[in-house]
Amino acid sequence: MKRRIFDAHIHVGEWGCRRYAERMIRPLNVEHRDYRDCGKYVEKSGIEYGLVVPTHLEDEERNFAYNALVRDCVEKIPALYGGYWVSPLPECGDLTKRAIESIRHPKIRAFKMSPGEWKTYSLDPDTWDAEFTGNLEYILDASEQKGFAIQIHTGSGNSDPCKLDSFMNAYGKRGRYHLVHMGEATGGILKFVPRFIEWIEAGYDVYTDQVMAPSFGIRWIARELGRIDGGLERLLFGTDSPWSDLESEYWKVETLNVSDEVKGKILLKNACRVYGVPGPK
Ligand SMILES: [Zn+2]
Repeated sequence: MKRRIFDAHIHVGEWGCRRYAERMIRPLNVEHRDYRDCGKYVEKSGIEYGLVVPTHLEDEERNFAYNALVRDCVEKIPALYGGYWVSPLPECGDLTKRAIESIRHPKIRAFKMSPGEWKTYSLDPDTWDAEFTGNLEYILDASEQKGFAIQIHTGSGNSDPCKLDSFMNAYGKRGRYHLVHMGEATGGILKFVPRFIEWIEAGYDVYTDQVMAPSFGIRWIARELGRIDGGLERLLFGTDSPWSDLESEYWKVETLNVSDEVKGKILLKNACRVYGVPGPK
């Protein structure tokens, strides 16, 4: 790749094989089982920095076990920073508290949560009870105290951008949010983009990335963000590796109709600022 890159969306932890829609599947040719695999990715891709979070599994409690793999990555791979899995689900309250209290390493810079695993709860606060609300506010307080961004999965179902809109109305001012995937597929993107612009205009500290989005989505959001002062500083670059790859995601940015300076921001500088990583030398 011809530009310097901060990949702000990498996963660690095996996904493996499972029964899905009545068939056994093993979708990944390459897995990031541990820091060694992530190190190989960093070396092969030539990225300058990366932010790694646990792989999403259906079982929230197992997602927490992968926080140890994130810690290994930040300790052993100089280019990697990390985000810890947290969850406001009532059965995950203790796991979340323990995960947050265990954070010692200065290269842990984020929390990650995925509403896909929230069962009857969604991003819409109308679906929450007192315990869930308390856990969510505990996560927000910790992120504020530590100066962390919170990565939130966006897509369909519980992660639908209309539900995220309800969350933002209630909690938009409470945190710095990296809303990964910008809605993910066509239907989600059609809902996400106009709302993302509104959240910025409302003064929220929100960011998104292009990974898994069809290319019309990133061209559209870049056009809309270009009309707002500092709008193109809200786009980060990610690969969701090993779920997508550097080459195809990079060219979505490289072929945008924006200046070289803006490409440099999207691919590197914006994420350095959001995750508090020393800027480009
Ligand atoms: Zn992801």
